[in-house]
Amino acid sequence: MAELEGLEFGKSDFVLLDEVNMEQFMENLQLRFEKGRIYTFIGEVVVSVNPYKQMDIYGKVAIEAYRGRELYENPPHLYAVADAAYKAMKRRAKDTCIVISGESGAGKTEASKYIMQYIAAITNPNQREEVESVKNVLLKSNCVLEAFGNAKTNRNDNSSRFGKYMDINFNFNGDPTGGHINNYLLEKSRVVQQHAGERNFHSFYQLLRGGTDDMLSNLHLQRNPEAYVYSKEGASVITVGHAEEDAMKVIGFTSEEISSIYKIIATILLLGNLEFECDGEIVQLPGAGSVSHVAELTGTEPETVSKALLYRTVATGGGEVIEKGHNKLEACFGRDAFAKALYERLFAWIVGRINTVIEVKNYNPALHGKNTVIGVLDIYGFEIFDNNSFEQFCINYCNEKLQQLFIELILQQEQEEYHREGITWQHIEYFNNQIIVDLVEQLHKGIISILDEACLTVGKVTDTVCLETMNTKLGQHPHFTSRKHCPTDKTMDFQRHFRIRHYAGDVTYSIEGFLDKNKDPLFQDFKRLMYNSADPVLKEMWPDGQLSITEVTKRPLTAATLFKNSIIALVENLACKEPYYVRCIKPNDVKSPVLFDDARCRHQVAYLGLLENVRVRRAGFAYRQPYARFLQRYKMTCEYTWPNHLMDTDREAVEAIVTQHGFEGDVAYGHTKLFVRTPRSLFTLEQERAALI
Ligand code: ADP
Ligand code: MG
Repeated sequence: MAELEGLEFGKSDFVLLDEVNMEQFMENLQLRFEKGRIYTFIGEVVVSVNPYKQMDIYGKVAIEAYRGRELYENPPHLYAVADAAYKAMKRRAKDTCIVISGESGAGKTEASKYIMQYIAAITNPNQREEVESVKNVLLKSNCVLEAFGNAKTNRNDNSSRFGKYMDINFNFNGDPTGGHINNYLLEKSRVVQQHAGERNFHSFYQLLRGGTDDMLSNLHLQRNPEAYVYSKEGASVITVGHAEEDAMKVIGFTSEEISSIYKIIATILLLGNLEFECDGEIVQLPGAGSVSHVAELTGTEPETVSKALLYRTVATGGGEVIEKGHNKLEACFGRDAFAKALYERLFAWIVGRINTVIEVKNYNPALHGKNTVIGVLDIYGFEIFDNNSFEQFCINYCNEKLQQLFIELILQQEQEEYHREGITWQHIEYFNNQIIVDLVEQLHKGIISILDEACLTVGKVTDTVCLETMNTKLGQHPHFTSRKHCPTDKTMDFQRHFRIRHYAGDVTYSIEGFLDKNKDPLFQDFKRLMYNSADPVLKEMWPDGQLSITEVTKRPLTAATLFKNSIIALVENLACKEPYYVRCIKPNDVKSPVLFDDARCRHQVAYLGLLENVRVRRAGFAYRQPYARFLQRYKMTCEYTWPNHLMDTDREAVEAIVTQHGFEGDVAYGHTKLFVRTPRSLFTLEQERAALI
């Protein structure tokens, strides 16, 4: 690769290290970070270190420098990968995807935004209006999604609490024609409870702080977030947001829709403050005032709201339908479940609404050519907290799946192809995490199956009993720690914890709450209440509320299984695209722009498999083409192949081209394909070809 900067900035591609080992890798990474070079290549992969300060490397001038250039012509940058993905899509009509990974706070979401901005900036040179409006909506959608899906956590002031995969569709001109967003597992438990020092989703504070007095009074809200149980944590942090309301308007939300959204947010806050009182066995709602506010905001009747909060309808074995009063615990549980579901459905509805605006319309492939796609994945990174629950379990499973995809695409397929093509090749060892993926997702045997079974068992299976089953069934698994093979381990309580040895490290999960979160029950009464709302927007979010209690399916899919299915579909979708990777590293845990915490970074480099990546890349060949195709493209650059093919076989003809241009040292000949190590050789050929045709 070309050295475009002086060596005082370190090596711009880890492939150029003198020796591939952890010491040299870390030295180069740190040197570059300290010199303000936050990006480094491993071939086409970009390694990024969060600078925690504004960098003067984005914007118009930089975009122009990267536009349409080859990867090796400029210093490493997100723009370079974005351009490579775009070029592959445009030149070869390939669907591509950019997978951004890294732990919370490593800079994934910022990276995804720069990539989107780049793509927006380089497309639609003729400023066609309909394309501009698609681009505008795509860019603005981030703002809305962040308001509703992000929150301040202890790791990141603007942490995405959902996974996002966005497809951008392009026409044959390479201009965006639309897009589609998939969201994954919103961390809805945050709506009703936050860890110390963390906050609820931004939207709550933005409404309270940013709403006008009139608005708040219509919503029966006070301005102070501390007045609400659900938002009192971290309320002192000031945020005012008008931007997202503007963004919602640009996207095309109607004022009725925006008003319904605010009413739902207000409803949730009011629900959180509802208290239940016990009069003997009977539970009551003393704060009748706020019940009527909830009813007003949701377009329902106060009596039906109270009833849904205090009773549930159940079908008896004999098919009879009865009403059963809650005890206090059940009432609180029901209220919180309702609040969480309201928010979750609101979020899903917002994503769906954005999708209807950006979906590709009136596209006729016969007329407009093949519709191609660039996907951008920004999904939660690996998480290890002091207390790890169901959410961390799902998130870490998702990361195992993505790591598996990385291994398959970057390490495994690569090596298998060399083997198939008979290229001399020294096998690179790497840890294949398939075994951990199986531990979690295997049918009948895996952790998710065990959880599901416990949830579906009639009668009360407690978390502890479920944990016992896991210990029995998985006790022998090398990545599952149980008392059986760790009898002396004092760091965990085998009655309450289980531990998975993830590819990224050991995580001890607390089983408490797993079954509830997996089952994720919501009384049908709430669904029916919302379905019968006079507010059409709200009603639309609750189609399942039309079912009566006897029609409700008894075995709905659990949260873990739904999540698993969505992640399997995601991985299948990514696997059929040409992948580009951004690997984000978090330099320290204190958001400092100057601190490079060696141990923390080393750990991330190790589990992201970056060294293996360099090794495979270094030993390997970045580009490959079947002989016939190569010949077809470059035959005019060589006297033995143009105007007449003077060689016996395509392979010999290709050898003649390579020899004539003097890059024999940069290639290897496979059974059916030519392998080229660096892009420089191809670049020379491209230039010569361009001069000749
Ligand atoms: P993640 O999505 O991986 O959790 P974010 O992208 O939200 O992390 O980044 C966390 C914070 O780090 C951002 O809010 C911002 O302050 C800072 N940051 C990340 N990337 C950059 C960057 N390229 N330039 C400046 N600051 C950044
Ligand atoms: Mg994020």
